[in-house]
Amino acid sequence: MKVPDIIIAIDGFSSTGKSSFAKRVAAKFGFLYLDSGALYRGVTLFAQEERLISKLNTVSPTLEEELRTLDIHFGTDGRTYMGPRCIENQIRSLEVSAQVSPIAAVPYVRAYVDRKLREFGQKGRIVMDGRDIGTTVFPHAQLKIFMTASEEVRARRRYDELVANGSMPALEDVVKNLRERDYIDSHRETAPLRKAPDAFELDNSHMDMQEELAWIQGLIQGKFGLLDAS
Ligand code: C5P
Repeated sequence: MKVPDIIIAIDGFSSTGKSSFAKRVAAKFGFLYLDSGALYRGVTLFAQEERLISKLNTVSPTLEEELRTLDIHFGTDGRTYMGPRCIENQIRSLEVSAQVSPIAAVPYVRAYVDRKLREFGQKGRIVMDGRDIGTTVFPHAQLKIFMTASEEVRARRRYDELVANGSMPALEDVVKNLRERDYIDSHRETAPLRKAPDAFELDNSHMDMQEELAWIQGLIQGKFGLLDAS
């Protein structure tokens, strides 16, 4: 199926499987996949390493200054880098997850990430996942999806992902982190997590990847009037 040069914005709660879905969608249609959360995670790792965030999540104003020169980017291998250093694994840790939402609530951090994300939007043919892509980063995205899943399913997915990365988290800590992040993400003042009015909702609690891909394919065919289902 030849999909037009559109932007596909995928938002939703934590661990709803947005990245796995977005990656597969991008591969299927020959689009570029971009994980906006990775940039917020990168800024968080930087703030932790430079001691610019306290245990109580107080952010030092020095961070704003540091962001002028901080180089967090996606490498040609699709992984996340801080300068020359690959930080892909580190940014997925529970330590980073524990402080990423307070960092992402800071307006100048959002401005830093938004600037980087919008550069990718010039050409279209991208799938970007996050919390505010369809509402704030690309409000004119031609296709918006809002993902949900039951808390139980989400916690299990996140837990399995952490174990696969070599951690041994307690399931209750994973649940606590999901709840805290969803709360902060939905209640912050700047660009809170919301379903855009024109987004299509996908609850994948009981769906596998093949079903999710069939769902979006049907959606694209219907919306853009494409007939070729191959
Ligand atoms: O997508 P992921 O769970 O890796 O995102 C980590 C955190 O980054 C989220 O919990 C949220 O606080 C923040 N985020 C955001 N806006 C985005 C993407 C992520 O605030 N577009």
